[in-house]
Amino acid sequence: MSDPVLDVKHLSVDYVSAKGLVHVVDDVSLELRRGEVHGLVGESGCGKSTLARSLLRVLGPPAIVSGGSVMLEGKDLMKMSAHEIDQVRWVRMAIVFQGAIDALNPVLRIQEQLVDALMAHGVRDGVEDRAKKLVDRVSLPRRVLTAFPHELSGGMRQRVVIAMALALGPQVLLMDEPTTALDVVVQAEILDELDRLRKDMGFAVLLVSHDLPLMLERCDRISVMYAGRIIESGPVASFRDGGSSSHPYAKHLLGHPYAQHLLHSFPRLDGPRTIARALEGSPPSLFSPPPGCRFHPRCPMVMPICKVEQPKLTQRGVDHVAACHLAQPAAEESPAALPS
Ligand code: SF4
Repeated sequence: MSDPVLDVKHLSVDYVSAKGLVHVVDDVSLELRRGEVHGLVGESGCGKSTLARSLLRVLGPPAIVSGGSVMLEGKDLMKMSAHEIDQVRWVRMAIVFQGAIDALNPVLRIQEQLVDALMAHGVRDGVEDRAKKLVDRVSLPRRVLTAFPHELSGGMRQRVVIAMALALGPQVLLMDEPTTALDVVVQAEILDELDRLRKDMGFAVLLVSHDLPLMLERCDRISVMYAGRIIESGPVASFRDGGSSSHPYAKHLLGHPYAQHLLHSFPRLDGPRTIARALEGSPPSLFSPPPGCRFHPRCPMVMPICKVEQPKLTQRGVDHVAACHLAQPAAEESPAALPS
């Protein structure tokens, strides 16, 4: 197992509101390993975008980071001055947002925007040649350099934003629902392109999405968020194998019931026809989340302890953790709490 390039420990993010603090990200720990694609998945409003944006400190008021650390190559981004974090953005870690049209300046041609981005980070020599190489890198024709953003398709704009994010060779790329607004064909083309670039350049990706099948196809590891917390995390194969009797941990219910519901709520194209199971209820309000396990009002397996005691993330299998009172590993398998 390689060392993490990004190591998030006990990160909490609150929003200040007239009704008080809303704990949108609550004590989240997450590792991103070199060169991997790590998927962060959950329903709308679970805190996944807030988490991703807080890593690079691009969240403005009313959001505040109320605790925790984000270590990138041995340095805590949460303790850096505004000047220091500016040196990290784009150079060591970059972010791609969902709406490329909002990320681009509507009154500047693409070449000017690429050149601006390079010069803002101290690149002075050959910037126009570098802009040409950047559009080549994401397989765009060079004519896009003289176009305004509104003259490009959604897929082309998203490629421009990816080219910009990779301009200075970051080690970490945060992608917040980067293809949600695109049709599935363009989505697949862009993710294939990203995969090729990642293999060439060696950066790691934190991919944020509500689309679990996409995550199963594209990621090496997945973390599932529910109501501001990570409730399960592990290699993609262990999510696929969670319900299989051949899996060594299947007898202990490897997966968290919420993650299992997410998995079973999508139809499979390669297996027997089954009826997708809907999950009853709605995600809880983060103003006053339920005590104990936050999923307990919706959980078909709820037990008395679930209503009073918050389950901790504990080891369920090789490199796999889940937070559920039900998913107890066998005694001989020595459950281990997540390292703090
Ligand atoms: Fe369900 Fe209890 Fe597990 Fe929460 S801790 S997911 S309520 S069984």
